[in-house]
Amino acid sequence: MHSSPKKDVLVMKFGGTSVGSIDSLRQAAEIVAKGVKEWRHLAVVVSAMTGVTDALLTSATAAGNGNDRIYRASIDDILKRHLDVIAGLIDEGELRTELESQVTQFVQELRTYCHSIHVLGEVTPRGLDTIAPLGERMNARIFAALLQQMGVSSRAVDASGLIVTDNNFTNAAPLLDLTRARVKNILVPLMEQDITPVVTGFAGATESGITTTLGRGGSDYTAAILADCLDADEVWTWTDVDGVMTADPRIVPEARVIPELSYSEVGELAYFGAKVLHPKTIRPIVERGIPLWVKNTFNPDFIGTRISKQFQRPPGILTAITTIRSLSIVNVEGRGMLGVPGIAARTFAAVARQKASVLMISQSSSEQSICFVIPTASAAQVIRSVEDEVALELMRGDIDRVWAKDKVEIVTVIGSGMRETPGVSARIFGALGRAGINVIAIAMGSSEFSISLVVASRDANKAVRAIHAEVIEKAAV
Ligand code: ADP
Ligand code: ASP
Ligand code: MG
Repeated sequence: MHSSPKKDVLVMKFGGTSVGSIDSLRQAAEIVAKGVKEWRHLAVVVSAMTGVTDALLTSATAAGNGNDRIYRASIDDILKRHLDVIAGLIDEGELRTELESQVTQFVQELRTYCHSIHVLGEVTPRGLDTIAPLGERMNARIFAALLQQMGVSSRAVDASGLIVTDNNFTNAAPLLDLTRARVKNILVPLMEQDITPVVTGFAGATESGITTTLGRGGSDYTAAILADCLDADEVWTWTDVDGVMTADPRIVPEARVIPELSYSEVGELAYFGAKVLHPKTIRPIVERGIPLWVKNTFNPDFIGTRISKQFQRPPGILTAITTIRSLSIVNVEGRGMLGVPGIAARTFAAVARQKASVLMISQSSSEQSICFVIPTASAAQVIRSVEDEVALELMRGDIDRVWAKDKVEIVTVIGSGMRETPGVSARIFGALGRAGINVIAIAMGSSEFSISLVVASRDANKAVRAIHAEVIEKAAV
């Protein structure tokens, strides 16, 4: 028997739980070692160890709030966790000593940053972006060292030298042409020498070199950007579940793996809160049609979910249910609104000035109210901004009030199979009715890919389970 020819270029990304402990790092390294044998070129992207990005952000915020005991303890924990993992993975010797000194130095940098924040009494988005990717920077070095020890030639690469972004700190967008040139100059030569780069996920830098991040969960996005720039054949994101599932398995134990999804479906899923993929992930790979697989580090032989351009779901089959949490529904209401021209446009202009993202909109047909859903974190400032905008109408009594109901969630049912399939909404509402759940607002994507409902947070998990049982589990039999 002859061995099959090697496939060409693969980008693998490991999420926090896949590289968050001694055992999982070992498991992930085995996966890479196998990948190196099967693919001609392989680039790896790693997240910080699970919980470390949160701990870094907690340290920075605590320092900014003058909480020096908390930030110091948090930094000590971060150092201990990394040194323990190094001790458990890397044999004593030069490699380990070098790694320990690198990690200690990163933590020293963190101490210095937090000390400055503490003195200034404030942390800026730019400051957060200097601190947040330290977890990735430490973990990339640990992972590359582990691969070296296993005989896989490897090197840690900081994405700040590769991914060029705008300066929208904490949620930066990549500048693809500049990034492509850097990837060609830095990553490609390594890969051509059969050195597997281990790139830090999540981070980038402006053209002048100031560190930025791509948003929480952004390591998926890093992998997709690199795949685009490397003209990769596939992207595999490794996580702690068997693939993209019909619902968050923590909420619905009966959730099933979805074998195949289209780009638009996964876009909706990620947008509507399925944490399994960063919402922007697919953007760079859509045009090129690069397929993406979601796989389980702890069950590596399972095929996982394939996400591709071509996939077309047969009609009548629903895909998945997602939730977005920590939301508020803002209502602008008053009987006089009927006659006021441009009120919706003005309302949303006022919302946009606060840079709040509107997740859902609905207007009653009598035009007596407009309601929209936004993250609770921006609710107070949005209400103030809308009140300012319609101050005159409020004074005249055309608008009675602008108010928010907190503690709501959006539950979204997604699936291209919904298109032209009558009766889907009836079944969803039937299931909710039987479960005694009150629906606060409804919206349907005009593409008919999705139906979104607003429910009280306390009802959300129950709503997800009721809908899952009615429209997904029943479809399976
Ligand atoms: P990683 O660190 O690998 O990026 P995340 O924690 O960001 O992992 O995402 C994986 C988690 O997403 C899973 O553990 C699962 O609980 C959650 N999740 C939410 N919705 C879904 C879904 N529809 N399918 C699969 N996992 C989901
Ligand atoms: N470590 C970053 C985060 O927790 C990025 C990622 O894991 O994708 O948000
Ligand atoms: Mg993630």
